[in-house]
Amino acid sequence: MTVGLETRLREVLGKKTADALADGLGLETAGDLLGHYPFRYAQRGERTDLASLGIGDDVTVAAQVRAAVKKTFTPRSGKGRGRGGRGELLEVIVADEAGRSLTLTFFNQGWRAKELVAGRWGLFAGKVAQFRGRLQLNSPQYQLLAEDADDPASAIEEFAGTLIPVYPATAELPTWNIAKAVHTVLGLVPSPPDPLPAPLRDRLGLLDYGTALHQIHRPESHEYLGAAKKRLKWQEALVMQTVLVRRKAESAGEAADPYPEGGAILDAFDARLPFDLTAGQRQVGAEIAAELAREHPMHRLLQGDVGSGKTLVALRAMLQVVAHGGQAALLAPTEVLAAQHHRSIAEMLGDLANGGQLGAPPEATQVVLLTGSATAAQRRPVLDAVKTGAAGIVIGTHALLYEGVEFANLGLVVVDEQHRFGVEQRDALRAKANKPPHTLVMTATPIPRTVAMTVYGDLETSRLTELPAGRSPIATHVVPYGDGRWMQRTWTRIREEVAAGRQAYVVCPRVGGDDTDDPNIGDKRPPLAVTDVIEELRGNQLHGLRLGLLHGRLDADEKDRVMRAYAAGDLDVLVATTVIEVGVNVPNATAMVVLDAERFGISQLHQLRGRVGRGSHPGLCLLVSEAMEGTPSRERLDAVASTTDGFALAELDLEQRREGDVLGAAQSGMKSHVKLLSLLKDADIIAASRTEAAALIDADPELKRFPEFAALVDDLAADRGEFLEKG
Ligand code: ADP
Ligand code: MG
Repeated sequence: MTVGLETRLREVLGKKTADALADGLGLETAGDLLGHYPFRYAQRGERTDLASLGIGDDVTVAAQVRAAVKKTFTPRSGKGRGRGGRGELLEVIVADEAGRSLTLTFFNQGWRAKELVAGRWGLFAGKVAQFRGRLQLNSPQYQLLAEDADDPASAIEEFAGTLIPVYPATAELPTWNIAKAVHTVLGLVPSPPDPLPAPLRDRLGLLDYGTALHQIHRPESHEYLGAAKKRLKWQEALVMQTVLVRRKAESAGEAADPYPEGGAILDAFDARLPFDLTAGQRQVGAEIAAELAREHPMHRLLQGDVGSGKTLVALRAMLQVVAHGGQAALLAPTEVLAAQHHRSIAEMLGDLANGGQLGAPPEATQVVLLTGSATAAQRRPVLDAVKTGAAGIVIGTHALLYEGVEFANLGLVVVDEQHRFGVEQRDALRAKANKPPHTLVMTATPIPRTVAMTVYGDLETSRLTELPAGRSPIATHVVPYGDGRWMQRTWTRIREEVAAGRQAYVVCPRVGGDDTDDPNIGDKRPPLAVTDVIEELRGNQLHGLRLGLLHGRLDADEKDRVMRAYAAGDLDVLVATTVIEVGVNVPNATAMVVLDAERFGISQLHQLRGRVGRGSHPGLCLLVSEAMEGTPSRERLDAVASTTDGFALAELDLEQRREGDVLGAAQSGMKSHVKLLSLLKDADIIAASRTEAAALIDADPELKRFPEFAALVDDLAADRGEFLEKG
């Protein structure tokens, strides 16, 4: 039998191992297993290892047995009880070369003392616990490094082999069994076909694929390991960038309907704007206007802090398209936000949104809202207006992606707050157009360059860096939750704002009611819930004020009713979850209290506080938290309090997040593809691979010369497509 990367593991490994690999880790083929890289390498005498153990961590440590002691004990519970009601406890002390020690405990397994003899090195895996102030592993799994005379060669190799792979493992399948399986498979597939284009590999001095796989799994040295990682990262980066570059090249070749600059409805709108555009709005506006006038689809990302006036830029782009017979769709991440956009856009347009009504100006259009919760009867006239083209501007949530929504002539798609949408969803909407529409993506989350290059690699980017004049500063303070005086002062401040005729938000991490929405409830206090907090505030601290409740589990009508009431000033305080995070715009709201603030991410807090200080009065944001001074959680809050620079906070946020989160759930295809590459640390590989990808596609758009590489590129592109069907 010839074995290749596509060979099923069941054909080459024992059934038990193959099953455990498939069920526990989702590894089905030889290629899957060889792509299951160690997440670290244990080293005999590793310096950092035992020193950095955290209680509750699942660890695998390399250490040497120092002593083993048997004790008897009378267990308090039935657990571990021996036959006579007494148990035998084997305590084994192990230590690393620096002399740091750890206790291993085994109940009623005294026989293990025979093999756990002083002097032996081994790998020990388990969960770190603390007992009488000492760290221990209870009943760890372990593998002793060979020392038997039968196989001296392997013993020496194990001892001399400085780097021992440690794999993401499962309870059934400890890391050394995975290592064994990898070893077997590496032996069967010693040199798989190399997918990297050979000229590029040679020019860059990268290892060939087979060598890289051997060295990542069983590194001969740190040097080889480094070279293996570099080579495999390059492959990940190059495939990803080629997908993006190819996609960009394809769309550049597409024909789109051009919409000339200006036009009656846009000119009428500009003429009645009550303020001047900022310099940034003018400049980005001109860029977009020129692109819309071209015969190729625009793909542009517009970044700008909350309140920088992105929506206005988008609206002007929409009007340019509407002025020339096209339709524009605005896709929002939540119903609340869609409804709010609908209201504020209709308001800004005034009678220019009264298309089809008696007395409306001739250039007027209709602005409609389409969300998932609309009833069939509500939807019908809206769908008709979209289909006939009477509605020039269509605002909605995911509902716009569904079947049954037909456009007469969709010319522009605007996506608000892209981090909630995948590339794939954007594509679904684009598929509703006769020709590829122009696309504008707006985000308030500042995006570092490498992330922009990967997640948004097929978009051009613009930034709005200044806030419109007349914006008020937001003061942010951290309030210790346990401190009664501070808490009292917090609620007094809210009462003062309300007494002055203004409004406030109280934000909590959780909805409440049934607790299934929070997976994190352990022994810790559950996060505060809006449904509980509103009762407490109503009865006590904010007694007598008009409080409203807003969270994601309310039905759309109720959400809309609450938002309207709040916007109209009929509510004083909105107690809400992060549904208000993006876009909600009530200029009279001046204060925000965030409870359990440490539960939110940096960027999230920054977005949240962007809800206040949108009018002429200064904003106040109070971050209430139990996080103690000096803890990382508290430092994050202090950082948010110390600056309102969204880009600085985004960088900080990025440093603290894990890769997977950076890519985002919507990028699932990318996520499984990018295993070694770090968007944060491998900026140079990403940038260089982009250049190489562009050269490859330029010379050979279909990658005919490199079929193996083309297959990987197609796979990744298809993964992204698959998400569309699932999502
Ligand atoms: P973003 O979408 O970037 O968060 P918006 O477009 O919602 O920001 O703008 C926030 C507020 O600022 C809105 O009330 C908008 O009307 C107002 N605004 C936008 N541009 C300007 C400007 N150039 N001058 C004054 N106010 C502006
Ligand atoms: Mg906005």
